[in-house]
Amino acid sequence: MKQEIINKIKEYDTIIIHRHVRPDPDAVGSQAGLKMLIQHHFPNKTVLLAGEQQSSLTFLANMDEISDGTYTGALVIVCDTANTERIDDQRYLLGKETIKIDHHPNLDHYGSIMWVDPTASSTSEMILELSLELEEDSNMNDEMARLLYAGIVADTGRFQFSNTTEKTFQYAGKLIKANFSRADIYNHLYETTLPVLRLEGYVLSELNVLPSGAGYVNLTKETLEQFQVTSKEAASIVNCFSSLKGLKAWVFFVEEEDVIRVRLRSKGPEIHELAGRFNGGGHPMASGASVSSWDETEQVLNELDDLCKMNP
Ligand code: 5GP
Repeated sequence: MKQEIINKIKEYDTIIIHRHVRPDPDAVGSQAGLKMLIQHHFPNKTVLLAGEQQSSLTFLANMDEISDGTYTGALVIVCDTANTERIDDQRYLLGKETIKIDHHPNLDHYGSIMWVDPTASSTSEMILELSLELEEDSNMNDEMARLLYAGIVADTGRFQFSNTTEKTFQYAGKLIKANFSRADIYNHLYETTLPVLRLEGYVLSELNVLPSGAGYVNLTKETLEQFQVTSKEAASIVNCFSSLKGLKAWVFFVEEEDVIRVRLRSKGPEIHELAGRFNGGGHPMASGASVSSWDETEQVLNELDDLCKMNP
């Protein structure tokens, strides 16, 4: 599969790399890391990054301006994206051929080549695997290493989540031999602002835990306004609950302009199928969805409660 992808890249002069909406560091890290990889080995090719610019991730890469015409005859590679509905720029359909590279377990079939590996910690880990197919790790591009390291760190929760494998550590070991600042990555990913820190304190004080071990918090638009924090900035707070003893799985409902974002995490039962029932998806231990009313959040919570009851 990796060789097939490399052969396909060799065939095209222009390659456009996409990723999912509301990108996370693994989406941008794998996307921009792949660009570095291609440019390092095939300097004559034009490689462009597609997707809306996300200000918190410009420390990784800037997206390119791409016209419709550029798509004609281009190879399109989509990183870290389980479903085509999650591709924020549907012009990818204008490309001649599409390749999917992803580590999400959801097997939505698209593209003429699909490389899906749910055992990989992150799509960034898969891009490093592709790179090792092409070269010895002693010749690794520094910028590519920085991007892939950021993606792996973020998707494994700093090497804590259960998706962290022996291979993940081996690969991280190869990446840190390159020349980049790990401290800089950690600062960008995890430093926060005083309003977010204050909101975090409030949200933790509001956490409810049911007898089953299911936890939940509702965060309304009014509270976000009161703390002067955007829903995007509040997203990372969901990970703060994990240290609570006895908590099996939890959901953080964050009210946005038109929807209520559902952020699910687990230390026990798999929650990605639950997310799928509410038009979302993700990983067994970290998933997301959107619902349109607080009544619907009750349904999500009831299902989570049932899952926790079945998972002693
Ligand atoms: P987060 O809560 O950090 O936004 O998302 C956690 C995981 O769930 C990520 O892997 C993300 O890609 C996935 N995810 C979040 N929201 C959605 C969604 O609406 N649809 C799908 N398919 N996956 C989602």
